[in-house]
Amino acid sequence: MIIMKFGGTSVQDAAAINNAIEIIRGRISRRPVVVVSAMARVTDSLLEIATAVSARDYEKASSIIRLLRDRHRSTTAELIPADESHRRLRGSVEQKLDVLFNELETIALAAATLGELTNRTQDAIVSMGERLSSVIVAGALQAKSINAEMVDSRAFVVTDNHFTAAVPRMKETELKAREVLQPLIDSHVTPVAQGFIGATIDGFTTTIGRGGSDYSAAIIGASLGAEAIEIWTDVDGLMTADPRVAPDARRIKIISFGEAAELSYFGAKVLHPSTVLPAVEKGIPVYIFNTHNPASGGTTIVAEPQPSRNLIKSIAFKRGVTIVNITSTRMLLAHGFLRTIFDVFDRYETSVDVVTTSEVSVSITLDNAERIEPIKRDLEGIGQVAVEKHKAIVCVVGNDLKFTPGLAGRVFGAVSGSNVNMISQGASEINLSFVIDESDVEQAVRLLHKEFFSELDPAVFA
Ligand code: ASP
Ligand code: MG
Repeated sequence: MIIMKFGGTSVQDAAAINNAIEIIRGRISRRPVVVVSAMARVTDSLLEIATAVSARDYEKASSIIRLLRDRHRSTTAELIPADESHRRLRGSVEQKLDVLFNELETIALAAATLGELTNRTQDAIVSMGERLSSVIVAGALQAKSINAEMVDSRAFVVTDNHFTAAVPRMKETELKAREVLQPLIDSHVTPVAQGFIGATIDGFTTTIGRGGSDYSAAIIGASLGAEAIEIWTDVDGLMTADPRVAPDARRIKIISFGEAAELSYFGAKVLHPSTVLPAVEKGIPVYIFNTHNPASGGTTIVAEPQPSRNLIKSIAFKRGVTIVNITSTRMLLAHGFLRTIFDVFDRYETSVDVVTTSEVSVSITLDNAERIEPIKRDLEGIGQVAVEKHKAIVCVVGNDLKFTPGLAGRVFGAVSGSNVNMISQGASEINLSFVIDESDVEQAVRLLHKEFFSELDPAVFA
């Protein structure tokens, strides 16, 4: 069996859901378990409802609920015809949606009356997106004669009670997922489960963090020992570079988990690899596919790096970076110095990315420089501080980096026209990062792409 997870844009309207249905139909012999996200932007709307009720603004909450109801109802009407043979199905889907919307209204009214929104109440509200979309997708599959059934993930995704960021408990989830889903799979029913949501042992609804549906897919797949996990989204997969910057960018057909993890930090927003770790650890391959272009081969994420004739897999970058340089002769041989510096960033809840040190100086990059003024003030008690804005990090990723002497020479040779500020090779040794002026970044990415991807290993790149 396989897991097929459809993200928000893959279920955003009737046309997208119809695409998804045909994709599911094409794989029905592989016994799919379908996991769905909320329809695109619905989770955001639900969070707005939560904010409104906490401000006692039931009017506002109620008007957002009305819009959501209209959207889910009209999508249902488009997907399930009103003719004789579908009338009962359509009625039953509409009724299920009504039950959920009534529940949502009740919760919203109660919270607005009290003017109090606990994380637990917020989760009850926010979970509705997936609960609604799964009812529609299951109904639409049935309307197209696919034997599907909505299953409630809260019956088997067992989490702790850290509402809004709950952590699944794998042992219990594995047992329950098998108990609930296996009988359906065995009798050729396609279960349609919700991503993103679960429940505590005592049955309170939880959510596992924004974008959590990929994680749900991985957990369910790992629990059932799936052959594959397919993440259906709105891009063709991971690319050798951002095609808006490097028009020659190509799709990466296969990449290791470690390589994908390095890229994700740089806004390869396709998926956050840590979310699929439970599956990768069990040796289950994770595929990324495009619902709107299913013929494209996608990207496969596997546990082990694959041999490639190209030394690197991808070039990533991030704009809007700020460098903070701290220089102090007191640093010489002093222990505890770095900690003193990091404590300052910690105090202002600012996370740091690339760090380089010399005997007397430390350079640190930030991508959120909102609190740079107080940070600078505090750091000035430690040494001389210089802040440089409008920088960019460029990151070259590939497992073979660690075995290839002279690679740094090729990288910096290619970008020799730019002023390079900081260079760092992560401990994993599969990325080489450096900082340059933001105004040089596009050119640098194009030059690197030319240097490393003029010829492509057809086993690895499309
Ligand atoms: N609907 C949730 C969100 O938007 C979970 C997901 O889509 O993965 O964050
Ligand atoms: Mg989403």
